[in-house]
Amino acid sequence: MGDRYLDRLNDAQRAAVTHGVAQGTTTGAPPLLVIAGAGSGKTSTLAHRVAHLIVNGADPRRILLMTFSRRASAEMARRVGRICAQVLGNRAGPMADALAWTGTFHGIGARIIRAHAEQIGLDPAFSIHDREDSADLMNLTRHELGFSKTESRFPTKNTCLAIYSRAINAEQPLGDVLLKHYPWCAGWQEQLKTLFGAYVAAKQAQNVLDYDDLLLVWAQMMGDPVLAAQIGDTWDHVLVDEYQDTNRLQATILLGMKPDGTGMTVVGDDAQSIYAFRSATVRNILDFPSAFPIPATVLTLDRNYRSTQPILAAANAVIEQASERFAKTLWTDRESEALPRLVCVKDDADQARYIVQRVLEEREQGTALKQQAVLFRASHHSGSLEVELIRRNIPFVKFGGLKFLDSAHVKDVLAMLRFAENPRDRVAGFRVMQLLPGVGPTSARRMLDAMQATPDPLATLAHATPPARAGAGWTGFVAMTQGLRTRTAGWPSEIGLIRHWYEPHLERLHEGAATRLADLRQLEQIAGGYPSRERFLTDLTLDPPDATSDQAGVPRLDEDYLILSTIHSAKGQEWRGVFVLNTVDGCIPSDLGTGETEEIDEERRLLYVAMTRARDFLDLIVPQRFHIHGQHGLGDRHVYAARTRFIGQDMLPLFETRAWPLVPPEDATRQEAARQVRIDMAARLRAMWK
Ligand code: ATP
Ligand code: MG
Repeated sequence: MGDRYLDRLNDAQRAAVTHGVAQGTTTGAPPLLVIAGAGSGKTSTLAHRVAHLIVNGADPRRILLMTFSRRASAEMARRVGRICAQVLGNRAGPMADALAWTGTFHGIGARIIRAHAEQIGLDPAFSIHDREDSADLMNLTRHELGFSKTESRFPTKNTCLAIYSRAINAEQPLGDVLLKHYPWCAGWQEQLKTLFGAYVAAKQAQNVLDYDDLLLVWAQMMGDPVLAAQIGDTWDHVLVDEYQDTNRLQATILLGMKPDGTGMTVVGDDAQSIYAFRSATVRNILDFPSAFPIPATVLTLDRNYRSTQPILAAANAVIEQASERFAKTLWTDRESEALPRLVCVKDDADQARYIVQRVLEEREQGTALKQQAVLFRASHHSGSLEVELIRRNIPFVKFGGLKFLDSAHVKDVLAMLRFAENPRDRVAGFRVMQLLPGVGPTSARRMLDAMQATPDPLATLAHATPPARAGAGWTGFVAMTQGLRTRTAGWPSEIGLIRHWYEPHLERLHEGAATRLADLRQLEQIAGGYPSRERFLTDLTLDPPDATSDQAGVPRLDEDYLILSTIHSAKGQEWRGVFVLNTVDGCIPSDLGTGETEEIDEERRLLYVAMTRARDFLDLIVPQRFHIHGQHGLGDRHVYAARTRFIGQDMLPLFETRAWPLVPPEDATRQEAARQVRIDMAARLRAMWK
């Protein structure tokens, strides 16, 4: 009677949930792999399995449950709690609370390393560097070794960190990593080796670990049989969601903890592997069945419970074209008349307007904003949409990447613009001056005080003695402010001017310079829609107060808000309605060039992930014109975009294609009539003088 939750499951799901659980025993089950397509209930099955184990007497403190993000693991723990509650009543609370080992690989790694720090000669008080800190330390080390001064350009701190990170996570020798992924850096192999050695030494001297260390140290511990046994014995059950997106190092850790595979369950979908760029390898999931002395049990789920049949048919058609995959086609009984839509719009601005209109329509018909999501390939693609949402006062939350207008680099550039607009704006001045190397809060404050006291602050700035430690950067900064003051570049080119000035600072100050630069180009685009600097700044930052980016971007949690998310961050989730931005070549796939088959396939899987997030309606937007950023030295330009190559002509019957906005018939007649007009203007002008 207690296990009515099992009735909700289909046979394959139930087999996975109850695998190895017999009367009174929950331990000793052979390894289990659930490999199945999107929306087939993998995550749900995993949650049911954990609950089933607990209900049947497993000790929740001895269950390790790893998911891809903290958000996902919190959600999973909640689900487990709910299922347990149905059986255990008020005993469920304490049981679910005891499920202490849930989290991401990195989070769990940190706990394990701290717990065993003494045994491996680490100070348990070590601190953890995020990517930005790591890039800074890498930069410092690079600088101390004199590599930043080499005559030909040494890889940037972010490239160095990416190379280092890949060698660690993919467990590949440096030479191979360079050859395969960074051929243009291959000439620096010796120097990079020295750099990485010094970087590791610096981390040790400062008692810090970076993200990669959280996996690396854990994996190294698994190399010691005594430690490995001790750590592995902490849990009877180890369960992993989204296994297709783990890397070699993570597989090493898992296999090290449970060499015979008992108590191990992993679930995933090879068709959704989208993290190869971070060294994830689909081989982990494909090799899992044969990784143990006793072969793993493999179960597949083929019924999709999420999407309507037409949405599923379109998604299946996209993934069927992949060059390499485990063939598995999903079915559903969720009939629907509504085909997914392919919507042709003119450009980015129309794309934003279309989405706002559709989202509001759907809300009118009862679909909350929270039940609708807009997905995109790269964080900066949503720039125009964010501006439109703010303008229309529609609350939204953005996942993956920073919120466009709130991200540090966009704020830096806007601060420069504001400072030029109003040099007495201390907040802006304080921010921009400290972008310069050698300028700290004290000297910035002193300079601003001096400016404050004069009638012409920018003139004062130009003639002031630079702060003591400010280098050549100061001169460039002063020239920049003068240029903006005289408005020689004109609007909106001023933003481009600032971007050029800001670029070296950006590289020095922030990680991920390339994406951030793309954001700034996007900002320039958006600025083009405003008649002047003042209007732009006013609209964006101040006015009206209830529609500032802060309020539109961070609604209270009990409010309704639209979801904006990169496709990567949408993994594992679902919404009633999904809009996909820029379903064009150059965005999905992101490279206009041909690219390697492997990379193109990963882009195809991304589109598949995006489409399979939708339950009831799905709109793929195809702008006819989109803006690309200076590739191959051609500068920024608008290009005529083509629908993504992943939706071929033969797939069109699976979609409803439409153009937006629809031209009203009377307009169309008028436009057609106007097109018919033929006037010989030259003759007419000549005739005036006859
Ligand atoms: P993804 O591949 O996107 O991670 P998934 O395979 O993990 O998807 P879930 O998110 O677990 O799938 O489930 C998808 C949806 O199907 C959820 O809304 C879930 O509640 C529902 N679902 C799963 N199994 C069943 C079932 N047996 N009966 C009814 N609904 C189900
Ligand atoms: Mg899932």
